[in-house]
Amino acid sequence: MKEPIFLRPSFQERIWGGNRLRAKYGYQIPSENTGECWAISAHQNGESVVRFGPFEGMTLAELWAKHKRLFGYHSSEKFPLLTKILDANDDLSVQVHPDDAYAKTYENGELGKTECWYIIDCEKDAELILGHTAKTKKELIEMMKERRWDRLLQRVKIKPGDFFYVPSGTIHALCKGTLVLETQQSSDTTYRVYDYNRRDKDGKLRDLHIDKAIDVTTISHQKEELKQSTIQLKNATITTFVKNHYFTVYKWSIHNHLEMEQNHGFQVASVLNGEGTLVANNHVFTIRKGDHFILPYEMGQFELNGELELIVAHP
Ligand code: ZN
Repeated sequence: MKEPIFLRPSFQERIWGGNRLRAKYGYQIPSENTGECWAISAHQNGESVVRFGPFEGMTLAELWAKHKRLFGYHSSEKFPLLTKILDANDDLSVQVHPDDAYAKTYENGELGKTECWYIIDCEKDAELILGHTAKTKKELIEMMKERRWDRLLQRVKIKPGDFFYVPSGTIHALCKGTLVLETQQSSDTTYRVYDYNRRDKDGKLRDLHIDKAIDVTTISHQKEELKQSTIQLKNATITTFVKNHYFTVYKWSIHNHLEMEQNHGFQVASVLNGEGTLVANNHVFTIRKGDHFILPYEMGQFELNGELELIVAHP
């Protein structure tokens, strides 16, 4: 297979969701409270399906299980990545995720969840919550019990184009008015710390998971210094945001033309802005914002044309 594999996302309604996934990307969303587009996902809670071509109709999980070659014979039993677009029309609950070892033991063999965020768009003066101020476990427990959230939680100002790395064990939350592309491990394990005492449409509070959250939270908070690097080409800019054990994430900003070689096991790509073409194996594919696809192992040389902005990742 020397051509990209285009995927159809699945959508998740959330109490904090909105309708920007339709407004910005034209997706047919299930309601005006749609929080998450699971764009490239083999997780059972929301699977992507191949849109056309020889694998049309197959889920990404099926592809992963039956066609190892497409993915360079990657050794992981599960497809390791999950790409989402999140529409935070309201504040998300404050939460923390376990690492692989904890999730394996306490969450039926799930993976841990290290994630990262590219801020697609946000309101002026928007913020997010990243990290906490407790110096010891005792202090963390006391501040949680006494509900001193303003003291405990660290807030960060954000703007479009910012990138944040959120390793497992980091207390975090997206806040109102933020549209984000998230690249994460393929996991759906979240420990909710604080939910602003919100009630859902049936009047119920959502569950909190304070004990597990305390178990997995990194104390004290470790601020991640990212070493971003940029390669300036004639008609394109390639930025590497993060490169670690779980994933490497890039932004490709293309102004007219970019020639590339697919030289990883596989890559996942999401078009955030613009419209153009991808040419591979002498076929021309029209691509536009909101498209998501996989660049398979044997893709080889390909080119991208147009004014395009993509987030690309590989394990
Ligand atoms: Zn999270």
